[in-house]
This record gives sequence, C-alpha cells and structure tokens, in this order.
Amino acid sequence: MDGSGIKFARRPFNLDPGCHTGGFFSLNGIREMTGSRPAFKERGLRSPFPSGALPVCLCLVGMESLELRKCANIKSKKHKDQPCSFSATHGDYCSRHFKNPTRYLEPKQTLPDPVLTRSGSKAILLIQRVWRRLSKRQRFLRQGPAANCRDLAANQTEVYSLDPLASIPLAFFFSFADSQKTIWAFDIRSLSHLVTEGNEIVNPYTRIPIPSETLKRIHSRILWLRQRKYPILYATGESMTQEQIWNQKVLDVFFKMEALGYRASCRWFDEMNLTDHMTFYRRLHRLWMYQLGLTTAEKEAIVPGYNAGLSKLFRHPPDRVESQNHDLRWWRRANLNLIVEFLTRAPQKSQQGLGALYILMALVQVVPEAAEAYPWVRETLGF
Ligand SMILES: [Zn+2]
Repeated sequence: MDGSGIKFARRPFNLDPGCHTGGFFSLNGIREMTGSRPAFKERGLRSPFPSGALPVCLCLVGMESLELRKCANIKSKKHKDQPCSFSATHGDYCSRHFKNPTRYLEPKQTLPDPVLTRSGSKAILLIQRVWRRLSKRQRFLRQGPAANCRDLAANQTEVYSLDPLASIPLAFFFSFADSQKTIWAFDIRSLSHLVTEGNEIVNPYTRIPIPSETLKRIHSRILWLRQRKYPILYATGESMTQEQIWNQKVLDVFFKMEALGYRASCRWFDEMNLTDHMTFYRRLHRLWMYQLGLTTAEKEAIVPGYNAGLSKLFRHPPDRVESQNHDLRWWRRANLNLIVEFLTRAPQKSQQGLGALYILMALVQVVPEAAEAYPWVRETLGF
C-alpha cells in the first residue's frame, strides 16, 4: 500500500489543515489520493482554525495531531542506549524491529544494590509467579479464550491478511467462542474494520452475527488499545503515512459513532463528493439552528460552548463557507472536525448520543446508503 506520490510522515503531523494529504480507508485496502495542495497561507487564505482556536474536545481523536505509540526497540545494535524513534505499527514495534525485537530498557537509576536475604529472594520469586499468573488471566479476559494458546482457535490463519495466527502481534490478538463453543481468532484490526463498515457485524467464517456481549468486548479492547496509542488499522512502512494517520482519525470517529449506538460506515464519509460535503454542512447547520427546535440550554448541553468565541461550532453560515471555494480535502477535514465536536464535546454519553443522532440525521440526507440503513431517521425528518 505504499502508493505513488505518498510522502512518509516522519515529522510531527503538520498543524496546518491545508498541508494535509487526504485518503480514506476501505476494507478492500486504502484508496490513496495523490498530490498535495499548498498550505493555506501560501494560497493567501485564512485557515479555518486560527492559531489557538483548535477544537477543544479532543478526548477522542486529536484532530490536529495524532500521537502514536513509539517502537519499544533499541535504536540499533550500535545505539543500544537509545530507543527506536519510529511508530509502533506492528504491535509494540515498528516494521523494522517486530521480527527480531530487542526491547529498549530505560537506564537504571544508580541505586546501591539491595542486600538480599533468603526470605527477600523468596518473596521476589512469589511476586513474579503471581504476576505471571495474573497477566495470563488478564490476557484471557481481555483477549479471549485462545489468548494464551492460539492453537485452540478453529481458524489457522488471520481473515484479512491470511497470515498464520502466530504472526499476529500479541497486543492485537483477539478471540471469542461462538454459541457452539467454537473459538475464532482474529487480529483486532480486522474486527475494527468490520465494526466501522456500517453493516451487521457477522463472524466472517460462519456469517453468524457476533453476539452483543462479544461486541462489547471488542469495543473495550479497541478502546484499551487506542488509549495506549496503538493504531487500529494495518500500517505498512516504517512510519504511518499521512493517509494512514487520516484514516485512523476517520476510523476513530466512526468507531465512536458505533460505540454510541449508531452503526455507520466509514465508506459513507469516504464516498462523499464536494457537493455532498457542502450539503452535509448545510443540512447539519439547518438541523442545529432551527429544524430540531433546540433551546439554547439544550444546545449548550449537547455541544458546550457551541456559540462561544473560538470554540464556536459553526463559525460561518453555509453560504459564506461555500463562497470561499474550498476544495474537497478542506471540506472533508472541516466536516470530520464538526462530527467530532458533536460526538465528544458533551461530557455525558447520553448527550454525545444525541450529537451522534444529529450527525446521522444530516448523513441520511446526503448518503443514500445511510438513508437506506436508517429508514426511521429519514421518516423522522419527513422525506
Ligand atoms: Zn523500531
């Protein structure tokens, strides 16, 4: 997936929205967009996010920067005293180090060697034993019945990559037992794709829907990984490309939608063209401003600070934004930011759920598949 015209992002993600190279994820691989556009300033345009006015609700996805886990390896055999600086795209390691890893250890502080008594060493061994048992149990609970013995799984290869199960990085391994007590094992990144595809989530091997209990476990595992900055999409190369970073953001947003109870597909957003994006902004603006009949207090509860200065939700009315002649990439970014605001600004989940519903209400007016998937939302809107 190392496409032509794609630059590798080895430096921190550029803050200027104009420098962004787009590209979206789909199950069939990453559709890459080539070319890049000059930064806003170079084009004599004002950035839609003036410095200091970055969205404040970045608990879900850092829209202006996406921090990724660093490779846990030593930099090289020559430089054992330094950690590798690449992103951990293959579990805990980068693509260069995951096959034969040598973990980097922080230099020990110079403390005097403790004098060990016999009972002291016994206690240490006991703690180590308990810890080993405990971590196995934790792994079993978090990653399923095959987590400590991959041979228990009925499938021998990973569904997406077709690689043997043994090659799945430990952090990404996930397994579950179906109602027949058959155990299936996956790379959680394949499951995260299924979750954000918008359809009913079925076991790819049996086509039987995955039970809600298992789905909850998949959700909490993905959340666990994202909180620890593991990317949940397949990444190639030494560092994530800007496309992949962007795809991770889209994935995060649609995963959040799913977690709030609204199954929506990344593809819906991916396939929106320039007109669709303008319509989406216009419809969402209309819903928010008057169609839903929300009071100021209700709006404030759903998107705190929605009308306040720099954190203002809709900075300009649709007519004005449309007259600024932004390109597709700008619109994608602006609309994804807007969706994040709706999904994350409120601290309570119930309010975030309302935000997600409003996003869906705008989506069904733009994307035919969304309208098909949510006929009741369409009916509520009366079309
Ligand atoms: Zn590395």
